[in-house]
Amino acid sequence: MLKNKSAVVTGSTSGIGLGMAQALARAGANVMLNGFGLTATIEKIRRELAKETGARVLHHGADVSQPGEVAAMIAAAEQAFGAVDILINNAGIQFVAPVEEFPLERWAAIQDVILNASFYTIRAALPGMKRRNWGRIINVASAHGLVASPFKSAYVAAKHGQIGLTKSVALEVAETGITCNAICPGYVLTPLVEGQIESQAKTHNLPRDRVIREVILAAQPSKRFVATADVAALALFLCGDAAKSITGAAIPIDGGWTAR
Ligand code: NAD
Repeated sequence: MLKNKSAVVTGSTSGIGLGMAQALARAGANVMLNGFGLTATIEKIRRELAKETGARVLHHGADVSQPGEVAAMIAAAEQAFGAVDILINNAGIQFVAPVEEFPLERWAAIQDVILNASFYTIRAALPGMKRRNWGRIINVASAHGLVASPFKSAYVAAKHGQIGLTKSVALEVAETGITCNAICPGYVLTPLVEGQIESQAKTHNLPRDRVIREVILAAQPSKRFVATADVAALALFLCGDAAKSITGAAIPIDGGWTAR
């Protein structure tokens, strides 16, 4: 389905980003992985995905909060693959604190990694997409891009901002073959959420299964985590021809969370 297409997926050494990178490579796309981790672990992921799929799989270690590193990553992908046809902005971090106690540097880091990084990558990748008159930009926002929770002011603000960016970009390229959409997952069991389960278990002095049901999934009516593979399947659909008229959308995949 995506033979002859090339993708950059930020934050794809783990969790949802890795799931999307795997789905794209299995559909035939070349993939530039990005994200942090142990060199040996990342190389194993890269090698195994290339071997399994036959796709070209590379890794670039850009810190997406740094515009110069992002420009270098997009240039490296264009150089290696000849194009960046699909751009997925997925890198993200979290920090939880009351707004008046929110550390300034944590606030800035969350805006940088989630919102500013999405601007940097789109700015760098869009000229090539426009030249080829084809592109798919997917911003992995969150249910927290559509609704809020207390103590997550930086994350909620960044994710709402990412959806605003999605809409503006979609309008700017609406007459081309490029689409720009946001995916808004509810809770997906990834290392990012594992960290929240551990800290909430300590805070509430509750066992893991009760933290999951009563704290983490309290707002998710399905009471089930969203599967990484399901988020990846949605991203894959947005990359296909059948999704060419979907643009500027913020699509929930959240077990009913935002239906409340
Ligand atoms: P994760 O912690 O498993 O993965 C995050 C990835 O981002 C990792 O590869 C990490 O190395 C990378 N990363 C972090 N900072 C970076 C930086 N400065 N530069 C480059 N890479 C960086 O997290 P996840 O749960 O898979 O989350 C992925 C995305 O999905 C995030 O944007 C997150 O906000 C969003 N999301 C997650 C959930 C959930 O429940 N897990 C729900 C909704 C939205």
